[in-house]
Amino acid sequence: MEKVVIIGAGPAGYTAAIYTARANLDPLVIEGMQPGGQLTTTNDIENFPGFPEGIDGPTLMAQMRAQAERFGAKYQFGEVLKADFSERPFKLTLTGDEVVEAETVIIATGATARYLGIESEQKFIGRGVSACATCDGAFYRDVPVVLVGGGDTACEEALFLTRFASKVTMIHRRDQLRASKIMAERAMNHEKIEIAWDSVVDEVLGDDSGVTGVNIKNVKTGEITKIDCTGYFSAIGHKPNTDAFVGQLETDDVGYLIADGVKTKVEGVYTAGDVSDAIYRQAVTAAGTGCAAALEAERFLEALGE
Ligand code: NAP
Repeated sequence: MEKVVIIGAGPAGYTAAIYTARANLDPLVIEGMQPGGQLTTTNDIENFPGFPEGIDGPTLMAQMRAQAERFGAKYQFGEVLKADFSERPFKLTLTGDEVVEAETVIIATGATARYLGIESEQKFIGRGVSACATCDGAFYRDVPVVLVGGGDTACEEALFLTRFASKVTMIHRRDQLRASKIMAERAMNHEKIEIAWDSVVDEVLGDDSGVTGVNIKNVKTGEITKIDCTGYFSAIGHKPNTDAFVGQLETDDVGYLIADGVKTKVEGVYTAGDVSDAIYRQAVTAAGTGCAAALEAERFLEALGE
């Protein structure tokens, strides 16, 4: 049986691993399909303290992982499909029906990029439709692309896409970007970026070769306009990865885990990072809550005399 199992390997999970490993709790980190989490799909991180010149996401995550490993954190590949928090030891069922037992659990499973969900969009996922410009942008050299969304991610990804694409059309449902002022201005002032305001995607068009365009609808006038493009990027936010915990822990309407700080309603089960944070969602806040969850797990085990 493990003293601490950390589910998820982003900044929250790795920070929890660093702290619990340094407390000699021998943590086990379950790493899913995307070790390193969302930051592995980010190129330049300019707002993580300690890196005045910025750092790329995969490097930062590899360093956090190595730091935890240095103090004895163990890693196991797998996805937690089911959790039983009704009694201790807690039981986690992984892919392949393996069951891991744990005295304490830190849930740091993060969130996953969302798509609009319309049929024509889903049909072309992987054939021109993507939710990760950093991963797929380089496939679209010298061709026009569109990107849906008006937040920081949308602006950041649109700016990234200008490195490759001949033109980036941002499709935003309102007449004002949600993004921070600095990001919004960078996007609006970029010569390759055009913004289709007050517009939603009506249909993604394509053929056997993949995406060929989109029809967008102006929500104020109802007018439909066709935009030619071979790439379509979704940047409309994220869905928390909490499916395995439904029925065991409380979630809000969107699916974020509800916690008091990092404490869930089950003693010994903690949350860290984006999985329970619909507000800040930053690498540094995820790391901060990873630390807090680790300290709480440590205190809990200490009180048990372990
Ligand atoms: P977000 O701030 O929630 O923005 C989502 C965007 O998608 C919004 O513009 C929203 O439109 C639009 N949207 C949502 N659902 C839609 C739908 N069904 N149809 C059409 N449009 C839809 O998400 P985010 O941009 O991923 O950012 C998440 C958090 O991370 C934020 O706190 C952000 O500041 C932070 N972040 C920071 C940085 C950075 O500092 N470098 C980079 C990335 C993210 P509305 O505006 O109309 O709601």
